[in-house]
Amino acid sequence: MSKEIKVIYFTDNGEKLANELLGVKGFSFEWEKDNSLKEEYVFSLWEKDQSLIDCCRDCFAQGLPMVFIGAAGIAVRTIAPFLKDKLKDPPVVVMDDKGLNVISLVSGHYGGGNKLAVYLAEELKANPVITTATDINGAFSVDVFAKERHLDIINRDGIAKVSTKALSGKPITLSIKDYPPKNPVDVVVENQVKNDGTINLKGEVASIVNEGIVAGIGCKKGKTSEEILELLQNSLAKIGKDISQLSAIATIDIKEKEEGLKEISKLYSIPLISFDKDVLSKVEGSISTSDFVKDTVGVDNVCERAALAAVGKEGGLLLEKQAMNGVTVALACNERTNTIYVVGMGPGEEGKMTLEARWVLNKVDVIVGYTVYLELLKEKYGHKEMLSTPMKQEVDRCRMCFEEAAKGKSVAMVCSGDAGIYGMASIMYEISQEYPGSWDIDIVPGITAATSGSSILGAPLNHDFCVISLSDLLTPWETIEKRLRAAAEGDFAIALYNPSSKKRKDYLQRACDILMEKISPETCCGYVRNIGREGTETKICTLKELRAEEVDMFTTVFIGNTQTKIINNKLVTPRGYRI
Ligand code: SAH
Repeated sequence: MSKEIKVIYFTDNGEKLANELLGVKGFSFEWEKDNSLKEEYVFSLWEKDQSLIDCCRDCFAQGLPMVFIGAAGIAVRTIAPFLKDKLKDPPVVVMDDKGLNVISLVSGHYGGGNKLAVYLAEELKANPVITTATDINGAFSVDVFAKERHLDIINRDGIAKVSTKALSGKPITLSIKDYPPKNPVDVVVENQVKNDGTINLKGEVASIVNEGIVAGIGCKKGKTSEEILELLQNSLAKIGKDISQLSAIATIDIKEKEEGLKEISKLYSIPLISFDKDVLSKVEGSISTSDFVKDTVGVDNVCERAALAAVGKEGGLLLEKQAMNGVTVALACNERTNTIYVVGMGPGEEGKMTLEARWVLNKVDVIVGYTVYLELLKEKYGHKEMLSTPMKQEVDRCRMCFEEAAKGKSVAMVCSGDAGIYGMASIMYEISQEYPGSWDIDIVPGITAATSGSSILGAPLNHDFCVISLSDLLTPWETIEKRLRAAAEGDFAIALYNPSSKKRKDYLQRACDILMEKISPETCCGYVRNIGREGTETKICTLKELRAEEVDMFTTVFIGNTQTKIINNKLVTPRGYRI
């Protein structure tokens, strides 16, 4: 829903002008670089059955901008009782009833009044009257700096001091506390914010960029902006973003003078932030390290560490280190959403986890899952909070996700293989009904055991196939039998999940017997145990031989169709091409 800008008028001319404004579609605060975050406003008229003072009180209470068409004196007297705080008051703009001058009266900076005045002046071909010194002189403005980064200004007396320094061209030191305030941590950072907009952080790590994407960039000396841009744009494209969505570029302090980086910062109006090596080395996360980089700049990684330092502890990597021609780029963000992720992590090995799954695990605060899976993730994500419940307590595990999310944490539930194939995706939707609220559930697919296993055995599922679980914990055995018979009847290749457990030792045997009612005991079959994990074992055999095999719950079994054959020790179900 768009917000309103209240238009107050007193004269006939004023009314005409007010109606002209109604035709103006909307006003977007420009500082929201990501379009989706732009705030849209529509103009609405003061309804005269409400007193002016009441209308004004409502606007101040709701933070709605006001446009007075009339004498500045009337506007000043009307709003006077409501003025409290330049960081909280809504912007008030005044224009004469001929539409010649548009004055930004209060909350010009932080509230956006100057932008509103300029916008209206452009629409009405009027003269914008801006009186805030930093704007007029094009100097660094700390309240806009804070607004753009969604930071709160704690020490308001400091604003005037910073502006005075900025106006006289002196370097500025800001203290930025960890943000968001919900999680106050007493680390204070000394930041050198220079007049050209470059920022140098010294001391402890704090989050200074709370929205949008940050690109951490490392580069060899003398890299041109074109060389850097090439990798930067490629990297952004990999996650479906473009450079207009970048909130900042982050690097190590010894690179802040690189012309290539400075040019990109200027060209796209993206702040360039630099950190010293001590700040960078304290950044936690799964970071790819390089001895060469460490010997050269004193810290083992620049791009990932700088990007993570900029987004702070709440953020995570969206794209790991990319390297090309002496340039490295990593992308990070600090997104807070109501999303609970259900992530398929693939069979176990890192290479078989999708990039999307890795982004999600990198950025969430809490990873929930069955202990065996969490163990597999420890090496890379061990610094995250990991929560589990014992096996067979899947429902509790789901509830745990909603409870953690309600505490304001971002949460991912992990499943092996694919999240929606004998995974937690469906139960998460079911449980979500117990937790009213605007939770989005985002299912992140993974490589399921049928496909990771079949690729090891050859190509056993390369035609129509069925996936059947032999577990009768949640499905009556009669149903399983029926499905086995139907699959055999249809001459499907079959992947059998949950083929056995300690309590169900003979289930595979029983399944083979049922299949052999219809299909040949010589049918080519196979299985893979511990796909993508330590101790992978494979076997190719006939259906009759499979019946005698003992398999465990970490095994996926493959039954061929009537065409399946063995080629060079691989199990192959042809598609039917004539060769
Ligand atoms: N969501 C998972 C399946 C969970 S059901 C997926 O999409 O892969 C559990 C069954 O999946 C196991 O009994 C086994 O048959 C199969 N499975 C899962 N991971 C496996 C692995 N790494 N190696 C072999 N089989 C696996």
